[in-house]
Amino acid sequence: MERTFIAIKPDGVQRGLIAEIISRFERKGYKLMAIKLVVPTKEFAQKHYHDLKERPFFDGLCDFLSSGPVLAMVWEGEGVIKYGRKLIGATDPQKSEPGTIRGDLAVVVGRNIIHGSDGPETAKDEIALWFEPSELV
Ligand code: ATP
Ligand code: MG
Repeated sequence: MERTFIAIKPDGVQRGLIAEIISRFERKGYKLMAIKLVVPTKEFAQKHYHDLKERPFFDGLCDFLSSGPVLAMVWEGEGVIKYGRKLIGATDPQKSEPGTIRGDLAVVVGRNIIHGSDGPETAKDEIALWFEPSELV
C-alpha cells in the first residue's frame, strides 16, 4: 500500500497544531504507520531538503527545520502521496486554498507548518532517511 512522509515543522509543533493536523489525515481515512518527535541537526535538514540546495532560501530553511522539535510521520493509504499534498495545500500559504492545512493555519511561505513528500521516489527516500524499518508498523 502507498506510503508518504509527513512532517509537522517546528512552527506547527510550537503553535500547538499537532492534534489538528493529525486529525485531518485520520478523518480522511489514512493510517498512521510511524510517528516520532525529533530535533534534526542542520546536516540532517540539509539532507532532507538536498533537492533545494541551489535555492537562495536553502540555508534559512535548514536553520529553521533544525530549530526545534519536528513531528515526523509515515501515513498510508490509497493515493496518500498526492492527496496528502492536497490536504496540505500550496507551498505559499498566500496561495493555498481555504480548507487546506496551510490555507487555514499558515500565512507565510517560510513558516508553512508542514511538509509532505512530493512523489513516490521522494516518499521512499524520505521515509528511509527519517525512520528505521523497525519503527514502522
Ligand atoms: P515541503 O517540501 O516543505 O513539503 P513544498 O513541497 O510545498 O514544501 P518545496 O518547493 O519543496 O515546497 O519547498 C520546501 C520548503 O521551502 C517550503 O515548504 C517552504 O518552507 C520553503 N520555501 C519554498 N519556497 C520558498 C521561498 N520562496 N522563500 C522561502 N522559503 C521557501
Ligand atoms: Mg517539497
